[in-house]
Amino acid sequence: MPNHVMDCPADALAAPTSSCAWPSLGAIVGHSERLFRLLAEHTNDVIVLGAPDMQCLYVSPAALVVLGYDPHDLVGTSPVDFIHPDDIHVFAEHWTGILGGPEVRTVCSVRHRHREGHFVWIEASVRGVDDPRSGQIIGCVAALRDITARREAEDEIRHRALHDVLTGLPNRSLFRDRLDQAVAHAARTRSHFAVLACDLDRFKAINDSLGHPAGDALLRVTAARMRAVLRSCDTVARLGGDEFAVVLTSLDEAHSAECVAERLIAALSEPVDLDGQIVEVGVSIGIVVAANDGLGADELFKRADIALYEAKASGRNTYRAFCPEVGRRIATRSHLGLDMKEAIRRGEFRLVYQPVIDANTGAVVSLEALMRWQHPVHGEIGPSAFIPVAEETGLIVPLGSWAFQEACREATHWPPHVRVAVNISAVQMRRDGLELAVMQALATSGLPASRLKLEVTESVLMQDADNVLACLHRLRAIGVLVALDDFGTGYSSLSYLRRFPFDKIKIDRSFIRDIADPNAAAIVRAVVSIGERLGMGIVAEGVETAEQLELVRREGCNQVQGFLLSRPLTAERARAYVRSRPGSVGNDQGR
Ligand code: C2E
Ligand code: MG
Ligand code: MG
Repeated sequence: MPNHVMDCPADALAAPTSSCAWPSLGAIVGHSERLFRLLAEHTNDVIVLGAPDMQCLYVSPAALVVLGYDPHDLVGTSPVDFIHPDDIHVFAEHWTGILGGPEVRTVCSVRHRHREGHFVWIEASVRGVDDPRSGQIIGCVAALRDITARREAEDEIRHRALHDVLTGLPNRSLFRDRLDQAVAHAARTRSHFAVLACDLDRFKAINDSLGHPAGDALLRVTAARMRAVLRSCDTVARLGGDEFAVVLTSLDEAHSAECVAERLIAALSEPVDLDGQIVEVGVSIGIVVAANDGLGADELFKRADIALYEAKASGRNTYRAFCPEVGRRIATRSHLGLDMKEAIRRGEFRLVYQPVIDANTGAVVSLEALMRWQHPVHGEIGPSAFIPVAEETGLIVPLGSWAFQEACREATHWPPHVRVAVNISAVQMRRDGLELAVMQALATSGLPASRLKLEVTESVLMQDADNVLACLHRLRAIGVLVALDDFGTGYSSLSYLRRFPFDKIKIDRSFIRDIADPNAAAIVRAVVSIGERLGMGIVAEGVETAEQLELVRREGCNQVQGFLLSRPLTAERARAYVRSRPGSVGNDQGR
């Protein structure tokens, strides 16, 4: 059996220790060789005596425990044969330092191959040994300690600090880091990269209805699908909730931001099986392409977020690229969001009423309630600016309930044949409580259900169509009327007309504006004929000129609304208006 020492000075390493009987520790001190063995062989660290050419001259018994090797097997070998290739340079650097002189002490951490094949993290404290006569370094002494557990704990802590626990994706701070790197790299290389802000559609509804474990599973599937679509040089991170973000580097035609966005949308639209429950989500994506414009990470992400907002507003499950014009609009929107809660409390919202007139008799058929915000700083703000913010923040629910209450109460002051129309948004329809809000408004005001009309847009029907239709059917069953607003914009699907027995179709004002154009007129004519066949009344919105009034009448629209007839009026002026008009109900009977 080979001795586990080699070429050692004979007087230093003579008698095998196992045969020695130690009378007392005190007696050993003074016996330098015995003392050496006692220390080397009873410490948990592996003590190594090394030659200047890195060969191991002596290895203490702890090597068996720490590295799995019998110390004899390591004598004559070089650490280089065992160190992980990625750590060789660390070791080499330290070794050069040690050769510099005996006063040099170094501590380095490297991975050392265990006899069983895996690597263990070793912390090596090394010091050179010099020849006292020449001062030359003639070797080194190293104490090797297994720090695998500590390294793993540190790695885990580092990983947790930079990754999302649920999906394993980089988290917000690692994403930020990667984004900073991308900005710096693009500035150096004058290259382009893209940032995608992604937000799942309908995630909250699934999380609320199927529970958090299902929501978590859905997020994990989402993360895996996103990873599968992207290349290894791209970063996909989970920023929190159902918010994800992507940095795309090395853009080319096949990997343009738009192509990747399309692939992400396609991948995430695939149904997900959550323990037998099949669910579908979508994703909205905002894109910004950074093109050496000197923008920092914060500004880039803000722009991607603005584009995301725009994607969500334009029907979801789609993407939008950042456009500066939209950026300016949305900057004011986010300010509005902060003010809005207070504004509801302070009563800064009010309704104005725009008459809908019978095209043949001139009688007032109904008044449409339109919301206004009397902002203390910005003055009057129209609904197009604040309704999207109210939808985003969920404030549309209390605001919508207030509108029902207010409109129904006001309508009790009008002649009994005049209805009130209230607009409802997609978010209101999706939330619980719409029916209750309608019932409460009717009950509190005493307005008959048949005098209330709800105006919904096609986008309302796009989302969760079955639930929405069921809700509209229930409201219709108690006598409330339902109109399809802004028809012709958005999805313009005539199939919606068959899916629900709308009482009215309101043709969007863009068609009325262009009615002199034969194509627009043909569309109006087609809608009128479908409406007539299905028993639905037709309202032309946005009639501004006598010529338009004449043309829409000729095309068969039986009701008209627009600035020509009346602008939206305050409650007080609306009361005066209805009193001043002919009282006939005209051909609006039953609708
Ligand atoms: P909408 O329901 O289609 O309302 C008609 C819009 O067209 C109103 O704009 C009205 O002022 C405008 N308008 C009417 N006649 C003419 C015309 O001849 N020419 C032009 N250029 N415009 C005309 P407004 O009040 O700004 O409302 C915009 C939209 O905001 C409404 O479109 C509706 O979708 C939404 N909205 C208004 N009030 C509410 C509300 O209480 N709740 C909800 N969810 N949405 C509301
Ligand atoms: Mg409307
Ligand atoms: Mg409309």
